[in-house]
Amino acid sequence: GMASDRARAALAARLRSGGIRDERVLQAIATVPRHLFLEPGLASQAYEDAALPIGHQQTISKPSVVARMIELLRHGLAPAQPLERVLEIGTGCGYQAAVLSLVARDVFSIERIRPLHEQAKANLRALRLPNLRLHYGDGMLGLPQAAPFSSIILAAAGMEVPEVLLEQLEVGGRLIAPVAVASAGADGHKQGQAVTQQLLLIERRSRHRFDRTALEAVFFVPLKSGTT
Ligand code: SAH
Repeated sequence: GMASDRARAALAARLRSGGIRDERVLQAIATVPRHLFLEPGLASQAYEDAALPIGHQQTISKPSVVARMIELLRHGLAPAQPLERVLEIGTGCGYQAAVLSLVARDVFSIERIRPLHEQAKANLRALRLPNLRLHYGDGMLGLPQAAPFSSIILAAAGMEVPEVLLEQLEVGGRLIAPVAVASAGADGHKQGQAVTQQLLLIERRSRHRFDRTALEAVFFVPLKSGTT
């Protein structure tokens, strides 16, 4: 309705003043009805720039982080390029997949938790996004039957980016992922546990050359292997 149109436009304006430059991404944020991806009790908070629970100990990503990651996929550190075949790992409730579908040619999204995969399907049905395909499976294995991809985006943080995902990235393609950074203890030794995460942009320059750029600190749910 009109009220949610206004709230979405205000959210997009807030992200613009927060530094998101890509007008196509802002337009997609102003279009996707984020309240439809939340349970009714949380819908009133849908247009705040916050991560919110979606059940199964998972969250819907923060809109500013969704916008930032998609902007980085489009631009890297250079001019914008159209997003062609995009793979998303971690569908969750499907919000980011919907935003991606408005700025990319084809989107494939994988979720490892069956009830979330089913929920995302239900959430997305009404939006009729013909260029978006949802898969149930372990995204740490990528999606070999649809590879290679021009862009890969991870919505969950691993200790590192799985090697198979790099293999499924086209030359010239980009991958954006939150990765855990093990912090050094006071004695200079690495502690066993990762305490912070940062965004990592990987650009595949040739068959064997992958350029990595570490960006800002973020907070994501963990990337896990297997399905459930
Ligand atoms: N893209 C979502 C974010 C969901 S949170 C949004 O739009 O808000 C991240 C999701 O990644 C969780 O649902 C979690 O179950 C999923 N996930 C974690 N590890 C995964 C894996 N190996 N394969 C597929 N999904 C995974």
